Amino acid sequence: MRALDYVRASSVEQAVASHSKSPSAFFLAGGTTLLDLVKLDVMPADQVIDVNHLSLKQIEVQKDGSVRVGALVTNTALAQHDYIVEHYPVLSQALLSGATTQLRNKATTGGNVMQRVRCNYFRDGHSACNKREPGSGCAAIDGHNRSVHAVLGTSEQCIATHPSDMCVAMAAIGAKVQVQGAKGSRSIDFLDFHLLPGTTPWKEHALLDDELITHIVLDAPLAGSKSGYLKLRDRASYQFALASSAVIVQMDGDTVREVRIAMGGVGTKPWRAVEAERSLKGTTLTPQNIEKAAALALQGARPYRHNAYKIALGQQAIVRNLSTLSA
Ligand SMILES: Cc1cc2nc3c(=O)[nH]c(=O)nc-3n(C[C@H](O)[C@H](O)[C@H](O)COP(=O)(O)OP(=O)(O)OC[C@H]3O[C@@H](n4cnc5c(N)ncnc54)[C@H](O)[C@@H]3O)c2cc1C
Ligand code: SF4
Repeated sequence: MRALDYVRASSVEQAVASHSKSPSAFFLAGGTTLLDLVKLDVMPADQVIDVNHLSLKQIEVQKDGSVRVGALVTNTALAQHDYIVEHYPVLSQALLSGATTQLRNKATTGGNVMQRVRCNYFRDGHSACNKREPGSGCAAIDGHNRSVHAVLGTSEQCIATHPSDMCVAMAAIGAKVQVQGAKGSRSIDFLDFHLLPGTTPWKEHALLDDELITHIVLDAPLAGSKSGYLKLRDRASYQFALASSAVIVQMDGDTVREVRIAMGGVGTKPWRAVEAERSLKGTTLTPQNIEKAAALALQGARPYRHNAYKIALGQQAIVRNLSTLSA
């Protein structure tokens, strides 16, 4: 059993200062990822800094229609907020497709962005895993890689998917991650926040060690757009995505004025399908155009022994979502 120091932060500044003094500390929000992984000794924390008492629980609609979401807003509160339900159905649906009611009541916005991969070799604490133990290898590449392993954005070092549903919706909507560290505050574009594994798979995000996420600011909704989240998985609830799509489409008559497509379950980070979007803008949503866009979204995908099916499944997640929205 690992002994842990516990610090209850009463201000953002105090949370950041405590972290600066203790590099092996972790911020504790809902605890639904952190406490499991500390108990498994996968996240070797010496200290947890409880941020639950900070006033970061507000959802504020700004004058331009964008929304400032506090890092401690729970997944349930965000999914059920009237403005989110009306203007960002894709986000509400993505949140409600994740985990279970009990978990969503505890899980926070900041914690969800920072959740760790679900790779079984990462979590078992002893297999070769470059993410957990740099340089030890990757047991998943030639191992059991059917469900939580990616076909896009992989490297010779790591092939784990980013597991979040919420983040896929945010990648489609467009957002900024606002953070506070010892050197001040800054804003990170959501698409730059999660990192590809490359040769440093243990570096998962753009946060510096002592930085705390304080807010996520969602771009204003596209006027008159429709949106939806489609999650394909082994069973209908309490299961991570094998493939998912978040789609937002704004029409001008029969013509696509703007479209955003992001994917989950297939990439090592929440995956924005830029080429697919480009192919659809200015066209009509015919079955042929939708199929072409879906094929472009998975272009360059690299299958592993047990997950080649994800290429077709990822395409179908886009085809079905876009077809439903255009009906
Ligand atoms: C059984 C199970 C099933 C699940 N199913 C799904 C699913 O289907 N879809 C899905 O998307 N997710 C799923 N999840 C993951 C769940 O959504 C995350 O565990 C949750 O969102 C994490 O939020 P938290 O507040 O509990 O974070 P914590 O566990 O408290 O923290 C997680 C990490 O984030 C860091 N952190 C927390 N807050 C901040 C902050 N403000 N700034 C910087 N760092 C911070 C912590 O230090 C830690 O490293 C599941 C989890 C479980 C246990
Ligand atoms: S896929 Fe990534 S997380 Fe899984 S064993 Fe390989 S290095 Fe570790």
